[in-house]
Amino acid sequence: MGTADFRDLVTKWALKNALEHSGKASVSAVLSKVIGEKPELRAKIKELNLVVQDIVGQVNAMSIDDQRKRLETLAPELLERRKVIETKYLPPLPGASMNEVVTRMPPEPSGYMHLGHAMSFLLNYLYAQKYNGKIWLRFEDTDPRKVRSKYYESFRSGCSWLGIKWDFEKNNSDDIELHYRFGRKLIEDGNAYVCTCPVDELRKLRALGVECVHRSAGKEPNLESWEKMSELEEGEATVRLRGDMTSQNYVMRDPILFRIIDHPHVLTGTKYRVWPTYDLAVAIEDSICGVTHVLRSSEFAPRGELQNRIRELLGLRNPVIIEYSRFGFQGTPLAKRKLRPLVDAKLVSGWNDPRMPTVEGVARRGIVPEAIQEFTVSYMAFTYSRKEFDWDLLFSVNRKVLDPVTKRYYFVPQPIKLAVSGSPILAVSLRNHPEKDLGRREVHVDGNFYIAKGDLEGLKKGDIIRLKDLYNIVIEEVGSEIVHASFLSRELIEDIPKVQWVTNDNIAIDILVPGPLFIGESFNEKSLSKVSGLAERSVSNLSIGEIVQFERFGFCRLDAKFERPTFIFIHR
Ligand SMILES: [Zn+2]
Repeated sequence: MGTADFRDLVTKWALKNALEHSGKASVSAVLSKVIGEKPELRAKIKELNLVVQDIVGQVNAMSIDDQRKRLETLAPELLERRKVIETKYLPPLPGASMNEVVTRMPPEPSGYMHLGHAMSFLLNYLYAQKYNGKIWLRFEDTDPRKVRSKYYESFRSGCSWLGIKWDFEKNNSDDIELHYRFGRKLIEDGNAYVCTCPVDELRKLRALGVECVHRSAGKEPNLESWEKMSELEEGEATVRLRGDMTSQNYVMRDPILFRIIDHPHVLTGTKYRVWPTYDLAVAIEDSICGVTHVLRSSEFAPRGELQNRIRELLGLRNPVIIEYSRFGFQGTPLAKRKLRPLVDAKLVSGWNDPRMPTVEGVARRGIVPEAIQEFTVSYMAFTYSRKEFDWDLLFSVNRKVLDPVTKRYYFVPQPIKLAVSGSPILAVSLRNHPEKDLGRREVHVDGNFYIAKGDLEGLKKGDIIRLKDLYNIVIEEVGSEIVHASFLSRELIEDIPKVQWVTNDNIAIDILVPGPLFIGESFNEKSLSKVSGLAERSVSNLSIGEIVQFERFGFCRLDAKFERPTFIFIHR
């Protein structure tokens, strides 16, 4: 085995070790894992040692997000699968039997994946899990004007991030020839016809519930028009279902099944000009993918009747459709038409801005996949009423996930100097978590501190306060620039104020605090604020993507290290 051969082996263990230790791998741990897997390398220990040092250095310089992505491609079997929520609490699905359930995630790749998709996909995934079934990731991409390559990828990476493992993947655009065959059958059977009404006319007649002249054309002329359809210009012809022009369900009024779109498709280029509509493609694909259960938002209810009708006319099997409430999050619309103007006007930094409900935005905001899983199971409801979730509800679930595994650090916003006379010079060892064993850190104390301006309110000469986890002091003088105090004692005194502190060995940080994007219908100008202050020095060792709790301030995720570390506030 040459050096080049074991680089991948070393990299994989370095990534794994780093992910288990806040983004920092250790040379000795990686070395022993590598030798554990390939004992014959012991003979080349010197050479191996150099390679391990080199690779550990590279891996430790990566962000945690990048480490995870790299390991996902290099050795996905080592990536700790996120704990998937207990599915036994999900109400049973009608007509479902073990090992036979097939569900699907059907995104249109016309925008970035958002929290609405995430929860809907999770529900379908968790049900497939519950019944030991299968799930499809299927792209509804038959409108070439709308779809873009980057959006396919957004859904793939979003689903992976959520911990969803899909069994099959396909694009509806792979099946256009098949859709044509089914379309032709509908025409042959007299269930569909080619309509050459101008779009405005067609719309007007549908609204009035009036049939157009083309509806009564015979089978032969219709088939002839169908064959020639690709020679026509966009807008000159459509294929419509012979539905019911007087139906109360507007969707059933001879809906369009195929239309001409002159726009290259990101996957099929200019090969096709006649494109199936969403309803036709979904109706066919759900059936040929063997989907047994469709869990979808109740806003799709009117379309269910149409899709079932199409399948019945084609002799295809209908899945069981289960509808859950439409939902949103307070002050944060999920709809692209509401969000795009904010991106275009640069009111947000992009689609991954931490205020945005995109999966990327939510991840930057520090919401973890386990929390979204648990939230989905606990709060999605199978009712027809529209639900508006309070962000606080999601935050409370997220806090429950983060609290036991998140290290605590000291942070002092709006710092002011504190000089303590008579302070013992000492090194204190602080626990990284009050209950869990998440390690300790050492801080050297010499009597010079910074404390938060907010903690000084109401303090006056003679008051006794405790510097948290350190010692008690007596206030001597509260100035506008500096507070003077004297050392009192070390033992814990109950019922006195406890304040956060940092020593002179600190680091300046910024914390961005996101809020709701909208207040009512208007953009919330104050949706992003910034808090600056001093954190203890050990914060500079954190990796991008890492989540910590600044005591008495809140949970924060390290987002960037430009001039100074910049965190994003998650919640208290
Ligand atoms: Zn017509």
